[in-house]
Amino acid sequence: MNLLKEKIKSDGIVINEHVLKVDSFLNHQVDTKLMDFIGKEFANYFKDKQITKVVTIESSGIAPAYATAFALNVPFVIFKKQSSAILDTETTIQTPVHSFTKNTDYILTASKKYLTEADNILIIDDFLANGQAAMGAYRILKEAGASVAGIGIVIEKSFQDGRKKLESLGLDIYSLAKISKISSEGIEFLD
Ligand code: 5GP
Repeated sequence: MNLLKEKIKSDGIVINEHVLKVDSFLNHQVDTKLMDFIGKEFANYFKDKQITKVVTIESSGIAPAYATAFALNVPFVIFKKQSSAILDTETTIQTPVHSFTKNTDYILTASKKYLTEADNILIIDDFLANGQAAMGAYRILKEAGASVAGIGIVIEKSFQDGRKKLESLGLDIYSLAKISKISSEGIEFLD
């Protein structure tokens, strides 16, 4: 996806060799035209998988997840990050997740109301680093009895081991931009 790579090159800000800031078009301000392209690209890749719902993690996954769900003509569900567990196992499913950017743990929370055994879910997130967020979403979906059709990632940092972990679960991961290196000299892509 050349448009996305160009945007990352021109507007991405290198924080350090592990973290890239993309606040101007994805994480704070959102480039709606780019989201439209991203949504269509994910929808096209997963079009034959009979997706019933898209799932994302608040807040940075919401824009690409909305665009993808809209293109697939299905609803999308936002998994919430909470600071502590709520003891309502009747209506919610929760799992602890380590945040890569904040270096703290949060409790990923979903309402059972919006997940069923008949669901075939596409997980969408903005970044893939060590795979903790996506693995947390996967655990919740498995507990709900839903199927996971695949994972769509806007920016994968291929020098971290998230992909390896998710592939070991047999998941189909489609990343629109794969970064092989972040340094003060710039950003390098895998292909
Ligand atoms: P993981 O759970 O795969 O280790 O990290 C992915 C999550 O951390 C994403 O949901 C994203 O919000 C955040 N994240 C990881 N790496 C980066 C990064 O380089 N830049 C930004 N802006 N967010 C990141």
